[in-house]
Order: sequence, then C-alpha cells, then structure tokens
Amino acid sequence: MNDELIQLLGRANVLIEREDLIPYSFDATAVLKQIPQVVVFPRTAAEVSGVLKIAGRHGAPVVARGSGTGLSGGSVPTPGSVVLCLVKMDRIVELDARNFTVRAQAGVLTQAVYDAADAAGLFYPPDPGSMKVSTVGGNVAENSGGLRGLKYGVTRDYVMGLEVVLADGEICTLGNKCVKDVAGYSLKDLFIGSEGTLGIVTEVLLKLLPKPAARQTLLATYGRMDAAAETVSAIIAARIVPCTLEFLDRKTIHCVEDFTHVGLPRDAEALLLIEVDGHPAAVADEAAHIQKLCTQNGATSVRLAADAAEATRLASARRSAFSALARVKPTTILEDATVPRTELAAMIRFIQETAARHRLDIATFGHFGDGNLHPTFLTNERDADEMHRVELAMGEIFTKALALGGTITGEHGVGLAKKAFLRDQVGDASYALLRRVKRTLDPGNLLNPGKIFDL
Ligand SMILES: Cc1cc2nc3c(=O)[nH]c(=O)nc-3n(C[C@H](O)[C@H](O)[C@H](O)COP(=O)(O)OP(=O)(O)OC[C@H]3O[C@@H](n4cnc5c(N)ncnc54)[C@H](O)[C@@H]3O)c2cc1C
Repeated sequence: MNDELIQLLGRANVLIEREDLIPYSFDATAVLKQIPQVVVFPRTAAEVSGVLKIAGRHGAPVVARGSGTGLSGGSVPTPGSVVLCLVKMDRIVELDARNFTVRAQAGVLTQAVYDAADAAGLFYPPDPGSMKVSTVGGNVAENSGGLRGLKYGVTRDYVMGLEVVLADGEICTLGNKCVKDVAGYSLKDLFIGSEGTLGIVTEVLLKLLPKPAARQTLLATYGRMDAAAETVSAIIAARIVPCTLEFLDRKTIHCVEDFTHVGLPRDAEALLLIEVDGHPAAVADEAAHIQKLCTQNGATSVRLAADAAEATRLASARRSAFSALARVKPTTILEDATVPRTELAAMIRFIQETAARHRLDIATFGHFGDGNLHPTFLTNERDADEMHRVELAMGEIFTKALALGGTITGEHGVGLAKKAFLRDQVGDASYALLRRVKRTLDPGNLLNPGKIFDL
C-alpha cells in the first residue's frame, strides 16, 4: 500500500519511518497513543480521493488529522491506519466581501481565517482557545466552540458549505453562498461534528459578519464562587448577552498568573472575564450595567480594560489556561462537562466535592456563559492508583452533568475519551440511529473506526 501512496503523492508527502510517525501517534488528549502505519499529506481533494481508494482496496482504516490539538482522542490513529493529514491544504481560496463569505481549504489555521476576514473589515467569530494552531477542517469535524460562543454560537453556525470526500473516494459539494437554501436534506450538517467518521472535509465555505465597531472587556473578582455564578444569572436575566463570559477558579488563576504575569488577583476565589461588543453606545451602556450587576452580586472588584492592548492581554491569559495548568503535573486531563447555565454553581460544587473525596487535584475554568466547564485533572499517568481515582471521578462528574440536564461534551467531541458515556446521554434509539448513519455512509468502517462508538 505504501508504494501506491508514494506513487500518488510523491515520496515527500508520505511518512513511513517509525521516528517520523511518532509525532502523529497522539493528539492533545492525555494518555492515548498509537503509532499509525503511514502518514500522508495530500494537497488536493483529488489526492484525498485517491488515498481513500487505495486504503479501501487494502482494508486500511483512515484517520483524518488537522493539527492534532483535539482533546478527545479523535485523531489518535487506529492500529494499522493511514493518517491523512490535511495541513498542506492551507490555502484561502476566496474571500467574497460582497457575500460575506470565505472559502478555505481544510488545513487553513483558524487564526488565518480570522485574520483574512479582519483585513477585509469582516469578522469570523468562532475562536477556540487553540485557534492559532487548529485547522478549520478540525473545527468543522469537532464543531468547535470558543470564547465568543455565548453571543455568536459555534463553528456550525458559520458553515455554509463543505467539500467532502466520502469513504469510497466520491467528492461531494454540499451547501452554497445562499443565505437561504432548503433544497433537500441539510447534508452538510451531518458532517459537522462527525469527527472524521463520515467523510474527509477538504474545503469549507464560511459565513462572515461585519466587524463590531467597539468592544469593552471587564474583569470581575470574587471571594465566593457562588457569587460569580449568581452574576452570570443576573447578567442574562438583565437580557444582556456578552460575547465572552469566562470563568477561572482559584487554582487556575494562580497557574495562569504564574505563567503570564498579567496581574490577576491571587487572593480571588473566582474571576469572570467579560467582553461586550457592538455599537459603541450600546457597548458603553452594557459595560456600565454589567459593572453594576457584578458589584450587586458580590464582586470584590471590577476592572475595565483601559485599552485594546489590555483587553488582548487578559483574553490571551484566559486562552493560556490549559498550557498554564499543564505545567503543574506530568499529565493534564482537560474535560468539558457542560450544564444548563442555571446549574453552574451546583456543578462546580460537585466537582470540588468529587476532587476532595477522591483526593485529586482538579482546577476548573471555562465558558461560564455557555455552561461549558473545563474540570482539569492535574495528575500523573504513571501513578496507577491515582489514575484509577481519576477515572472514578470523571465518571461521577459526567453522570452528575447528565443528571443536571447537561452533556458529556460541550465542544471537544466524543472521540475515544468519552465514547463509554455516549449511550447514557443519547439513549438507545438515538445511539442505534447514529450507528445506522455511519454504516450507510461508511459500510466498510474505514473512516476513523472506533471513534464516537464501536460499530
Ligand atoms: C490549548 C487548547 C485549547 C483548546 N480550546 C478549545 C476551545 O476553546 N474550544 C473547542 O471547541 N476546542 C478547543 N480545543 C480542542 C481542539 O483545538 C479543537 O477540537 C480543534 O477544532 C481541533 O482542530 P485540529 O485541526 O487540531 O484537529 P485534530 O485534533 O487533528 O482532529 C480533531 C478531529 O477532527 C477530525 N478531523 C480533522 N480534520 C478533519 C478533516 N479535514 N475532515 C474530517 N475530519 C477531520 C479528526 O479525525 C479528529 O477526529 C483546544 C485544544 C487545545 C490544545
């Protein structure tokens, strides 16, 4: 098979030596590793199609990969697999400023899409914390969220069209630039969030928005975590929808401050990082209202970012939370249990109790406005007893999230890491339907087999 792949793509676009394969044997998920058989770098949809046909003839599984920043093991290779890495398909094909769209190949970095839109006076809102390194193909495959999700939604809300290569090598174009289009099933939606199990995304047509004229960032400090949760409810009850409403607990504040030195208050129990954007008058009005609500709900201080540079520093500090926490212990397991906003305080209390009961180090931060929490286990995979307690605690946290009406994953996907919990969330009938869809589109179970569920 490797010779056929080399013939199709050229020797420079095929990795077969063990030392070259190692960097592709894991993603950003802790513990999971598997060396693939071969890694290939196609440059066109036709080459992707050719790779799928060759792999299909040899019965080899194909695992799509962008930048490998996934947090549920989605791009961890299946044994004997071909890793199909899309990073060489990194061209912005077209920016259509009149239709507010950008067309990009799957390997374009999320930040590059944002920058291209920004240069045209437009705005691409989805901003996963990993946006400087993640690819748009990976974002579509995981339906990634970000810090602006509360007001602007997630990747799905911006996908107008996709070019997808199916398991048998057929190249399909789905969707178009029309604001309205109800011709047939919305097939593109089937591929969004499908984690590389239904087809390979080769090109993405994304919707853009006009750039907001003004922004204001606020940092509110709390002595009690409950007060931060109450502030979120009060802001929403006041019918204000900030674009960002992020939360950091005490442990995360300390780790981020040690890492970034931006001046976060070390005596705080919790922090809220809030951003409003839009028309300058509305931004000023909402920022003043939010400041008042923070104080009324127990904030010990509320700081307004003095200028855009300070706002960027604070947002970057929040974006660095995972890297900052990863310095503490050898193994960092970042989860994304998510609950309705009204259940945030109950969920955080449960995470804290669970950490104490199992004698574990868990830091929590996340997208508070979305109810999307990141309980992060700071642990050591070489300590078998501690890893057993991590597994127990994780199971209890997911069970609690479901009991509160939540989900096992708000944005990181199911992958390998959470497939044991999926049936509990969706129920038997939906679980069977998911598998029927997979069997229909990928009857040979070649595309990322064993991810999301076993067939
Ligand atoms: C520091 C850090 C911060 C993060 N912050 C966020 C966040 O705020 N929000 C969020 O949602 N996620 C976040 N993530 C998770 C991760 O960055 C996202 O899931 C991202 O979309 C993955 O993109 P990638 O290019 O790295 O994809 P990969 O990790 O390579 O792949 C992810 C999945 O997509 C599939 N895939 C990749 N490309 C394609 C393609 N072209 N066609 C079909 N399937 C494909 C893979 O098979 C795999 O199942 C974060 C990760 C890190 C390390």
